[in-house]
Amino acid sequence: MKSDARVVVIGGGVVGASVLYHLTKAGWKDVLLIERGELTCGSTWHAAGGMHTLNGDPNVARLQQYTINLYKELEKISGQSCGLHMPGGIMLAGTRERFDWLKMAKARGRYLGMELELISADEAARVFPIIDKKHFVGALLDPIEGHVDPYGVTHAYAKAAQIGGAQVVRHTRVTDLKARGDGSWDVITEAGNVHAEHVVNAGGLWAREVGRMVGLELPILAMQHQYLITEDLPALKGQKELLTCIDFEGEIYTRQERGGVLLGTYERAGVPWSPLQTPWDFTHSLLPEDLERIAPSLEVGFQHFPALAEAGIRKVVNGPFTFAPDGNPLVGPVRGLKNFWVACGVMAGFSQGGGVGLTLSQWMVEGDPGADVWGMDVARYGDWATLAYTNAKVRENYSRRFRIRFPNEELSAARPLRITPVYERLQAEHAVFGDYCGLEHALWFAPSAAEATEDITFHRSNAHPHIAAECRAVRETVGLLEISNYGKFEVTGPGTKEWLSYVMANRVPKVGRIALTPMLNERGKLIGDFTLCRLAAERVFLICTYAAQEYYRRWFERHAPPPGVTVRPCAMEYVGLSLAGPRSRSLLQGLTREDLSNAAFPFLSFRRLDVGMIPALVGRISFTGDLGYEIWVTSEYQRALYDLLVGAGAEQGLKLLGGRALNTLRIEKSFGTWAREYRPIYGPYEAGLGRFVDLEKGDFVGRAAALEERDRGGARRLVSFTVDASDADASGDEPVWHDGKVVGWVTSGAYGHSVRQSLALGYIPAALAGEASGFEIEIIGERRKALRQSAAVFDPDGSRMRA
Ligand SMILES: Cc1cc2nc3c(=O)[nH]c(=O)nc-3n(C[C@H](O)[C@H](O)[C@H](O)COP(=O)(O)OP(=O)(O)OC[C@H]3O[C@@H](n4cnc5c(N)ncnc54)[C@H](O)[C@@H]3O)c2cc1C
Repeated sequence: MKSDARVVVIGGGVVGASVLYHLTKAGWKDVLLIERGELTCGSTWHAAGGMHTLNGDPNVARLQQYTINLYKELEKISGQSCGLHMPGGIMLAGTRERFDWLKMAKARGRYLGMELELISADEAARVFPIIDKKHFVGALLDPIEGHVDPYGVTHAYAKAAQIGGAQVVRHTRVTDLKARGDGSWDVITEAGNVHAEHVVNAGGLWAREVGRMVGLELPILAMQHQYLITEDLPALKGQKELLTCIDFEGEIYTRQERGGVLLGTYERAGVPWSPLQTPWDFTHSLLPEDLERIAPSLEVGFQHFPALAEAGIRKVVNGPFTFAPDGNPLVGPVRGLKNFWVACGVMAGFSQGGGVGLTLSQWMVEGDPGADVWGMDVARYGDWATLAYTNAKVRENYSRRFRIRFPNEELSAARPLRITPVYERLQAEHAVFGDYCGLEHALWFAPSAAEATEDITFHRSNAHPHIAAECRAVRETVGLLEISNYGKFEVTGPGTKEWLSYVMANRVPKVGRIALTPMLNERGKLIGDFTLCRLAAERVFLICTYAAQEYYRRWFERHAPPPGVTVRPCAMEYVGLSLAGPRSRSLLQGLTREDLSNAAFPFLSFRRLDVGMIPALVGRISFTGDLGYEIWVTSEYQRALYDLLVGAGAEQGLKLLGGRALNTLRIEKSFGTWAREYRPIYGPYEAGLGRFVDLEKGDFVGRAAALEERDRGGARRLVSFTVDASDADASGDEPVWHDGKVVGWVTSGAYGHSVRQSLALGYIPAALAGEASGFEIEIIGERRKALRQSAAVFDPDGSRMRA
């Protein structure tokens, strides 16, 4: 084994091998993979090898498409067969809701270029003859599905990488990792040390243990997973290969395995494996079979696939593989650990391994993943994702693998975990809570405890009239909203202004003022939207998306401030309440000595002031489109502030509102939000944020690319639509049609109660941004007429929030 390498990849499962191959493809040849056993000896060797393009996140779906399309190229380069079978796939719906879900999946697939086809139960039985069609209402066909040989794929990646210059060392365990002062690593192994510039943790079943070598507790857990293979079925003899299949109601997947059928199941009562520590001697091993545990699923399966009930079982496989709490991979550089990268938690290695390898290698070589990988970025988890939290969420996710997640559905595992001081107050007002990064926040308020549950549905729910009332209060009187679930940073010290001006695209505001600003990467794409609140010459309070706080911290490490400037994350130190509505000024004015008149405290003012006895940071800002104030206090004051505002607000007609109403109100104003309208695939001019980019202020990250986008105009435009929909609204990712062709996608949608219209925001080609009509938005399989609006549907000139 060599003693120096540019990169050491730890782990020779399908993921590590893919990373190795993609690094050589991207031009880094001095790369070494170290594997403790044989390649595939972790979770890879016993995988069923199935692959699918569909994923709830379209950006992850794109990477799955990439992976599946890669196998032929890989075979050609390596000369190693991947055992590729592409019979196509069928997804069976046993209920109307599931069929609606398939319609939506088909619609989402359209702008990804997928050729999906909805068929009846009769047609399903014709193309997939082993079902009893009476259990199904319809199905979706996907021609790009199949299965591969896990051994073949892993070795094909490794061989192709070796052809590209990489080295693979087997039977050598990495026992420790030691960081050097320059950011490089000493990789300690059983066979000596390797000095590496970069280390990639692709340790699969042991990724957690490899993480611990550097003090990192990765949120991953292995679950036991079983499939069985039947004896040959007479019905399959001489026939073309069966489609791969997902039976959602049975929570079963199948594919043909020689003359029989491989049937796997994600049972409801899934069992974790080695929840605390993965044993190092588990090599090419399996777990004892436990058919009892999957008996309920098998019972349903045998009704749905009667031919399987007749066939004997040839083999049962019970093996572990790892999941992150949301089921998506953990990929990317780790904050605080220079040159340390992860590619783990990959639960669908044969659909996702290629995309993971591609994006990680680009990130390492180019400094940017080259795609929108937010959905699998390791930075989406923070300290709150502890081992026990991960255990609860992974078990929940596993048990729901084939269940529908409705757009208004909140999951219950690991809750409540994080609460703010006003939680019980809101609960007493019949708040229906949602979970955001483990933090409880009110979604809407029911009139009574008995009504404080939301029906989960693709259509408008029982919350609809209550959200309407909350929106009305904001538009007519005053609403009170808890806003603690934002990320916050405090930047202080000499050089604060210069550093912020370099990392943010807008100018830093004057003392006492607020500026909204995008944050761009070097490619000029949106990687954040911030509110900069300047408290003093050398003190700026930043408000941003809480879920992205770790992502921002990592970025701030990369573009580190000069000595003397401190960037302090303080999200949970400052909790907040917001007032919004025409009476919010008179309400707040009654509680403070500060002059809040429009002249003295105009729109985008920010000041430290006392509200009653409470020291607060108050900003005059609005995400609802109405006159509004955000009031930030350290957490010990939040309850007193709440009581004060609610008490004083009674005579002003104050009403509590939750996140659902806020979403509606901001969509009425065409205000975008991170992870929906603002993502790293869009530029600021495309997203309508051009007015917040100051190209004149001097250099800043992404300036050259932003300038080019401004001059060329960008490829897409974020636009607003009113939609001809009366029972269900867009929720995101629906296709936008124009003149019979899919031209774009929805990013957010809701019913606009103030304007009595169904609304959507979405991206369309810039060339169509001048068109008003000819658009349709596909909601639950039905194309609804949509009119592009040239301005926000509510208060287009913004006079209400400036009043
Ligand atoms: C029963 C079953 C069925 C499955 N079916 C499918 C399917 O149909 N489709 C699909 O896409 N996925 C399927 N999977 C999941 C699939 O197996 C995983 O997604 C995939 O194996 C993950 O690969 P990996 O490289 O991340 O992990 P692993 O395969 O676990 O690889 C990690 C490697 O790292 C090595 N390693 C770890 N630590 C060290 C160290 N310190 N030093 C040196 N080497 C180290 C290990 O020895 C191991 O070889 C299935 C899994 C199971 C259990």
